[in-house]
Amino acid sequence: PDGAADLDRLNAQGYNITSVDANSASLVVTAEELLWLAADGYDVSGAEKHARKPIATPGAKGLGVYHSYTTLTSELQAYAAAYGSGQNSNAKICKLVSLGKSTQDRDIWAVKITDKLSKEENEPEFRYIATMHGDEPVGTEMCLYFIDILLTEYGSDSRITDLVNNTEIWIVPLMNPDGLEAVERFNHNGIDLNRDFPDWPSGFSGTIFDGAPLNDNGREAETRVIMQWSAEQSFVLSANFHGGARIVNYPFDDDNKGSGVEAPSPDDALWQDLSLRYSTPNSPMFNNPVPDSPGGVINGSLWYEITGGMQDWNYRYLGCNDVTIELDATKIPNENQLDDLWDDNRESMLAYAEASHIGVKGIVKDKNTGDPLYARIEVIGNNQPVFTDPGKGDYHRLLLPGTYNLKISAPGYKNKRVRDVAVTDSEATTVNVKLKPAVFKTDLNGDGKTNSIDIQRMVTALLNTPDEKSCDVDSDGKLTVSDLQLIVTNVG
Ligand code: ZN
Repeated sequence: PDGAADLDRLNAQGYNITSVDANSASLVVTAEELLWLAADGYDVSGAEKHARKPIATPGAKGLGVYHSYTTLTSELQAYAAAYGSGQNSNAKICKLVSLGKSTQDRDIWAVKITDKLSKEENEPEFRYIATMHGDEPVGTEMCLYFIDILLTEYGSDSRITDLVNNTEIWIVPLMNPDGLEAVERFNHNGIDLNRDFPDWPSGFSGTIFDGAPLNDNGREAETRVIMQWSAEQSFVLSANFHGGARIVNYPFDDDNKGSGVEAPSPDDALWQDLSLRYSTPNSPMFNNPVPDSPGGVINGSLWYEITGGMQDWNYRYLGCNDVTIELDATKIPNENQLDDLWDDNRESMLAYAEASHIGVKGIVKDKNTGDPLYARIEVIGNNQPVFTDPGKGDYHRLLLPGTYNLKISAPGYKNKRVRDVAVTDSEATTVNVKLKPAVFKTDLNGDGKTNSIDIQRMVTALLNTPDEKSCDVDSDGKLTVSDLQLIVTNVG
């Protein structure tokens, strides 16, 4: 039997594959679909009825117990009160924000942890998101342990103090609160949120920097909240937590290659390195039995293809590196195993967050005014760009050790190339850049003024001679309406 062909067929038929093992796959199906699968000759003897029973001890407080939406909310509020006001060790390092509401009107909480809470700094923005599948709550608990050590060990543990001082850390412990309350994979509308993000290329083309629309029409409330927030932030590195296996999977999940076929991204080597930073300290994950996953890491499509996943959207549309981390073979392990799971994941969560400091970083400014710019940073030979945070102009391009050539561009500015940037395996190399505003030659006929004659010439060129270089006002290599726009604004 050809397992990959089966997976493709099931995927094409609309079945929701949630995990793949050596000789079997896990699917979430209705009772009717189960009958169809059996009729198609699949061995469905391992099917389990989905039990809508609540997670053990809802309402408990503290670490090492499963939280409900309500107890999670009060716990996060307590952390924010204690560590956002300076009452603990004078450290104001924690802020609680509601990003928006779920379908059933629950808050989707984000915790921000950094040393200067309301100041834009030249720091990478890092993120963990948990439990977009409501019946995979281990990630929520790992996030709470992580929040707890960042806050309580800040100021005493030098490694944690450095991380908090130099990183803007965001943690969304519960993306699908309605699903958690219902002990249900899907959101309240029965939608799998990790299949609800815009696909490439049908859902969007280009990046947010190119002005490709965010296009969240028709998406679920939870998906929209995460999309809009992610587009406003400038995340450099991210991971989202799941359960049902022990593995890190990295983009692409979907590059139209089919399940069981590797779909490498332009940053494939970087992905393997980043994923291994998570799996290596976590011995059950590192030694997991999934085929083709040495060290507990695997390309998403090689494992099994999914469409509409969050990590591909983050990477392709925002230039944010995102991986999917499966924390335990059991979706809801016994509560008394949570402490052990935290032991497995503590070093992993720290090491992965610290990886947001590798590669090249810097600030891009206007050469004349010194204003920070929204710019695109490209590594020559790698077509995956990253973008500056427009508030501060800072960029953080994660790269493995080597020597790289960079191209920095921004609309209305002359491109700049920086050659032979040496990247080591320690802290990111700093490359600050000042871009010169481009001078636009809008006086096409050279008569000393920009007027209707130039507009006429531009329109004619647009319609008849799209290769006419002398009319390429912004020197981007093509004639477009923006060239005409530049002439119109310069008339007079
Ligand atoms: Zn999941």
